[in-house]
Amino acid sequence: MNKNIQGLLVIASLLLQVNLYAQKKAIVSTILKSTLISNVQIIDGTGSIPINGSVRFEGDKIVAIGNIKPIVGEKIIDGKGLVLAPGFIDAHSHHLGDLQKNPNGLSTSNQGITTVVIGQDGESYPMDSLVLDMRTKPVVANIASYTGHSSLREEVMGEKNLFRNATQAEVDKMKLILKSELDKGSLGLSTGLEYEQAFYSNRDEVIQLAKIAASEKTRYISHIRSEDVTMADALDEIIQIGKITKMPVQISHIKLAKKSDWGTASNILAQLEKARAEGVQITADVYPYTFWNSTLRVLFPARDYTNLASAQLAVTQLFDPSESYIVQYAPHPSYVGKTVSIIAKERKESEAQALMSLVAIAADFKEKNPGYKGSIEAIAAKSMNEADVAKFIAWPYSVICSDGNAGGHPRGYGSFTRVLGKYVRTDKVIELTNAIHKMTGQTASYLGIKERGTIAIGNKADLVLLNPNTVIDHANIGNSHALSTGIEMVWVNGTLIYKDQKATGKRPGVLIKR
Ligand SMILES: [Zn+2]
Repeated sequence: MNKNIQGLLVIASLLLQVNLYAQKKAIVSTILKSTLISNVQIIDGTGSIPINGSVRFEGDKIVAIGNIKPIVGEKIIDGKGLVLAPGFIDAHSHHLGDLQKNPNGLSTSNQGITTVVIGQDGESYPMDSLVLDMRTKPVVANIASYTGHSSLREEVMGEKNLFRNATQAEVDKMKLILKSELDKGSLGLSTGLEYEQAFYSNRDEVIQLAKIAASEKTRYISHIRSEDVTMADALDEIIQIGKITKMPVQISHIKLAKKSDWGTASNILAQLEKARAEGVQITADVYPYTFWNSTLRVLFPARDYTNLASAQLAVTQLFDPSESYIVQYAPHPSYVGKTVSIIAKERKESEAQALMSLVAIAADFKEKNPGYKGSIEAIAAKSMNEADVAKFIAWPYSVICSDGNAGGHPRGYGSFTRVLGKYVRTDKVIELTNAIHKMTGQTASYLGIKERGTIAIGNKADLVLLNPNTVIDHANIGNSHALSTGIEMVWVNGTLIYKDQKATGKRPGVLIKR
């Protein structure tokens, strides 16, 4: 044979082999990339009735839904007739720190959460630092953030100079920073007006900032100025902001925390519905517990921590000292886990006096330990009524949140599973599809999160496989890290993060930008 022809044949056969190899590789990789979750009741997050079928995802995207046949070689997970829902979106969360410290991410994944919305109560991180954090310290869940009013105040006015109205020049500086954060993908403006860092702002300051959020077509979310004695005023403020700016406004962790107002949730909701009828896009998020978790200082609505009359009002109207537990207390760690009543007995003080002492000792500790990291004191305070909580959960315009982190209050581990177990299955306050809608599709639409919250072709593969007959929380005050049951498998962006009450160790969470 001619040497040239021989050479050409060798080259041709080599080319053919390379081509075959490339084709084979392409086929193998498409096959391996897809996963089929078969034999499930699909509750798609829109609120519509479940359908039986399968869901296929490829990479981080959902690519097929319904009555679909497996492709040869793809990964098949038999859902055994369980419910497949979109991953839950936690509308008001403080979990990021825990997710970074404990990369297994059990606090969120054990309750089916795949996206946490932070930057709440007026406190946020700059978007640039979140971008960097997600690169250097990846976490299991997706993160989205609001920009906090108190953080803007701290940056512009200085941490020690917040106990007054801001000047116009200061408000102008805050507006510039806020606008730049919104441009970088923040979901909107959050306020924590009940906390001292923002309590001394006036309504005009908040409205000026809210107008910036509205001009960027974003949203406003607020821990309102009072959840007890001056709640009517606080509601009036958020409704006014919604009316003036025409942007969606959301009440964070709605509650009635004053005893004499217990049982009046219907009146509050009627007021909100009246505002909605007038065009105000007002909504709320809610967590499923009758006790909150915060600083002892919020128990003094007038911020007069040494006034015995105010302390008396707190112990009779604002919380139940015999059912409220200290969950953090740096000056005397031995107080942690005890009720205020028990601490009062130990200290040989009345409950009101003990409350004042606890605040004063913590303030003194803070003064003497300026570098102390973490919260110095916190209380899980029983202050709500079960019927009100149920009404807020059932309100058509509420969504579910945890308001949680990992520690102290069990909401950090059990909020979503508690709604599904207690409020859906046992108490029958709402139906399963509606509850899931309030944890997924409705939440995404209220917070402006795209491509998530519903099982739809093209959406991200954030998914949770759960057993509606067994799902329930187990975390409580004494054991706030107890894992829920009934959450069988959880995927974030197409990656399995949780199975059989164990983390897989993967951390596929991304930063979600507006
Ligand atoms: Zn709050």
